[in-house]
Amino acid sequence: MATKEVFIGGKGITKRIGIGGNNPVSIQTMWKEPITDVNDNSEKLDLILKKINNLQFLGCDIIRFAVPDMKSAASLCRIAAHTEVPLVADIHFDYRLALDCLKGNVAAIRINPGNIGSAENTRKVVEACRENGVAIRIGINSGSYPKELQKKVAAGEMTRAEALCETAVIESAVFEELHFDQYVVSMKSSSVEETVLSNRFYAQKYHNPLHLGVTEAGPLIDGIVKSTMAFSTLLNENIGDTIRVSLSSTPENEVIAARNILKECGRRTGGVTLVSCPRCGREGFDVHSFVERWQPELLAMDKNITVAVMGCIVNGPGEGKHADIGIAGAGGKAIIFKKGQIVRTVPEKDADTAFREEIQSL
Ligand code: SF4
Repeated sequence: MATKEVFIGGKGITKRIGIGGNNPVSIQTMWKEPITDVNDNSEKLDLILKKINNLQFLGCDIIRFAVPDMKSAASLCRIAAHTEVPLVADIHFDYRLALDCLKGNVAAIRINPGNIGSAENTRKVVEACRENGVAIRIGINSGSYPKELQKKVAAGEMTRAEALCETAVIESAVFEELHFDQYVVSMKSSSVEETVLSNRFYAQKYHNPLHLGVTEAGPLIDGIVKSTMAFSTLLNENIGDTIRVSLSSTPENEVIAARNILKECGRRTGGVTLVSCPRCGREGFDVHSFVERWQPELLAMDKNITVAVMGCIVNGPGEGKHADIGIAGAGGKAIIFKKGQIVRTVPEKDADTAFREEIQSL
């Protein structure tokens, strides 16, 4: 059964996005730098907007910003007024920061009711969101469940996954009592198993949209492995409406990883599919640096094609024959092929220029 549909955005120039229901699974990332001084720094604002734009080209639908103080709240409102990408304010401890963010085009508020101070503070945020037509994400992680549940876990009466789910149920009930249904729930743990089980438990009984994430998942490789395992298990059970791959790496890598997970799970189609060989002793072309250089540009292209980057001519065009376009090395030269047929041979130093011309003609 499809989850309830929750809408975010739609104010000012911000795009309106549906989460849950029959909407595609959306991709989120989180901004990694403080934004304290953006409100009075136009140069910084321009750089942020450029980066947001690039993240959008890579496939990012929603970006979350930490709002630890009033200056950051003002900055977020300024950024949100200049981009169509829905921006989410991440609030901890002080509910007044949420109220400040609601003065601008912020698309959603993320709060953890467990650390917002009191039920009354949660109610104030809910009422302000209702007035402004803004959705809320209830973010729960394995470090934030109530003391009674912590005791039960310590006594072995409840697993950590059950406690995560139970916390989400308790918090959801607060929102239901306030007759506010525009909320998304997340239950995050740094353990794949706890993430899978808590989300599975919740989805068996409730139909609120779920934001999936493995928290503190680790550096690039570790984080991608954990997130892929958790998300693919859940998405294949039709659980999960929006995802964030949390990495000790760039937001761009988080978006690329999320996009590829959705593609491999059959939840997102189109765009450039990049295949590249691992390189070996037969290598005639620096595949690694070519891929590193080209990946951001390729993934941001509005083309539904497969691109192959292969180290050598022995296997290159053959292995990449299903690719719409490919490049391979051949003893100081680079060959460019389309559907397995060589269309151009150039000195290796001209590889980028020739490749750009050929891909643009597709
Ligand atoms: S394409 Fe060539 S260089 Fe790349 S892995 Fe295969 S044989 Fe090795």
